[in-house]
Amino acid sequence: MTDKTIHNTIIIGSGPAGLTAAIYAGRANLKPIVFEGNQPGGQLTITTDVENFPGFPNGVMGPEMMDLFRDQAKKFGAECFFKHVTKVDFSSKPYKVYVGDEEFLSQTVIISTGASARMLGLKEEEELMGYGISTCATCDGYFYKDKNIVVVGGGDSAMEEASFLTKFAKKVTIIHRREVFKASKIMFDRAKNNPLIDIMVNKSIDSIIGSQKEGVSSIELKDTVSGEKTTFECEGVFYGIGHNPNTDLFDGVIDLDNNGYIITKPDSSLTNIPGVFACGDVQDDHYRQAITAAGSGCMAAIDAEKYLEDIE
Ligand code: NDP
Repeated sequence: MTDKTIHNTIIIGSGPAGLTAAIYAGRANLKPIVFEGNQPGGQLTITTDVENFPGFPNGVMGPEMMDLFRDQAKKFGAECFFKHVTKVDFSSKPYKVYVGDEEFLSQTVIISTGASARMLGLKEEEELMGYGISTCATCDGYFYKDKNIVVVGGGDSAMEEASFLTKFAKKVTIIHRREVFKASKIMFDRAKNNPLIDIMVNKSIDSIIGSQKEGVSSIELKDTVSGEKTTFECEGVFYGIGHNPNTDLFDGVIDLDNNGYIITKPDSSLTNIPGVFACGDVQDDHYRQAITAAGSGCMAAIDAEKYLEDIE
């Protein structure tokens, strides 16, 4: 099915970046179309309390905040669809965006498909995410004051999260599946020399014990060399095993960096394709915050509006 309308802008993704772009594009009267994807609202919908987004002094639940973003975008004329984009074609104008057999045409496209934290693949992850398991120390560290927590991973993310978490926790234990660390020497040494951090090597997490009501109480570990199983008591598990940008759709279509993130021109949301913009975690492997994603979504909408003015 082809919708013959040539839209001003199609936004792919519906986290803080995409929905902020939709608010700004809506207010600029661009009547944006938002394809929300498989996880409407993005990563914030798998968190619980958000305490660091300005304007919510008493905190707000992640899913509720994303509903508010969506309501605000719709108020200004954005149309949001729970559809997952399966293909794009930016080889000629108007650009084409596909949802299965459905084809949509647009003069500009804003990509805000985000990134996904890597998971260990444990069956309890779904239940305990936000209730003792976290993928973001900056977001959730504050909830673990004086607690014993673990950080899994051996790269810079794990080292950085562990060091950051010592501001709150009683003890942080880094758990890594090998003896060799991917982390840079400086970040590894900083963690190793911190008296509040212990490091356990050759251990993988077999299961996480807890409930939504009580939070996490312990983890089951397996020695990756001897196979021996042990129990370790802790009240929080932070995943520091990296993120994957959601860019499979754009591989070979748009310029990506070595880690698969979309490359944007400095201080802008411009990609290498005129009229295609990127914002949020899909182009940011550094800050990864709702507020920075929202800021870059605003930039993308302003960049799209300017582009449309220029081609008119
Ligand atoms: P990395 O890919 O560098 O490291 C991921 C770590 O997680 C590895 O130690 C890996 O183990 C481990 N891991 C992955 N999957 C699993 C699994 N299923 N079970 C157990 N362990 C697992 O990701 P990072 O996010 O740490 O870093 C990404 C990039 O960002 C890097 O270039 C890094 O330097 C950069 N970065 C820089 C920072 C800074 O400078 N401030 C801060 C954070 C990141 P294994 O080693 O066995 O593969």
